[in-house]
Amino acid sequence: MAAKIFPSLVNIDDLRLADALALLEHDSESVPDPGASPAVYLQLVIDKLCELSLKDPLTGLSNRRYFQNVLGREIEVVTRSGEPALLLMLDIDHFKHVNDTHGHPVGDLVLKAVATTLAGCIRPMDTLARFGGEEFVIILPSCQGHYGHQVAERIRESVSKLNITIAPKVVIQVTISVGGAYAPRWVRSTPELWVDRADIELYRAKSEGRNRVCIEPQPILSVSAEEKNLLFGPLTLGDPAWIESMSGDASVGSSGSVMNRVN
Ligand code: GH3
Ligand code: MG
Ligand code: MG
Repeated sequence: MAAKIFPSLVNIDDLRLADALALLEHDSESVPDPGASPAVYLQLVIDKLCELSLKDPLTGLSNRRYFQNVLGREIEVVTRSGEPALLLMLDIDHFKHVNDTHGHPVGDLVLKAVATTLAGCIRPMDTLARFGGEEFVIILPSCQGHYGHQVAERIRESVSKLNITIAPKVVIQVTISVGGAYAPRWVRSTPELWVDRADIELYRAKSEGRNRVCIEPQPILSVSAEEKNLLFGPLTLGDPAWIESMSGDASVGSSGSVMNRVN
């Protein structure tokens, strides 16, 4: 049980923690109390470093590393539960123009203002992160088709109404384009493919004029009565009521695998 013995062998003074503590001092509100026991102290330092490594320093939002973790987990949930989840990719329109016209520090101010607005638009269960540059991502678990579009529209509208004061009596506004894609239900996908599909929709929103939402239509999954009989017949001796109750819009085969037909 080396893990249990380890903390008592550690002498905090032997560790080179100066860089880690300087980082925490710079970026965290609190640094761990050195008066705590070595194990508690080290655990706090590690926890705070983890926290820091998952945060975007400019906006304070989660960063891309955190997003990738959540995205991978969410795919597992959707595959297992069939609960629809929506991924939104949001990109500030003509942001280079903001930097070129008002300077990089104003660009940073705009990024922070947009980040705060986005944070105010989501549910506690959603994940918002800065993907990079002027791009943000939102994962919306348990998100039915009509709700996803409404949320994305509301977010787009909130950003477009945002007044950003960049100097006394100087206010600017920006817009965002939003692309969205649902995780394929009952089918194992990859984070990369999901992001690619949302990105294609974002590209579509840009090319259709910006300041708009484009969401990939969710495939309508249906299984014909004949297919249901083929799938469940051997199990049920053809009881249609049982077949209906089991299948819904996706059907579980006798092997436990799931079979859909995309119309
Ligand atoms: P589009 O509508 O097609 O998205 O055009 P755009 O100008 O927003 O896109 P483009 O990719 O041409 O420019 C993005 C700019 O974002 C360029 C880059 O300098 C700027 N940028 C990226 N990260 C930061 C940052 O952290 N701070 C600031 N101020 N600017 C940033
Ligand atoms: Mg961009
Ligand atoms: Mg942009």
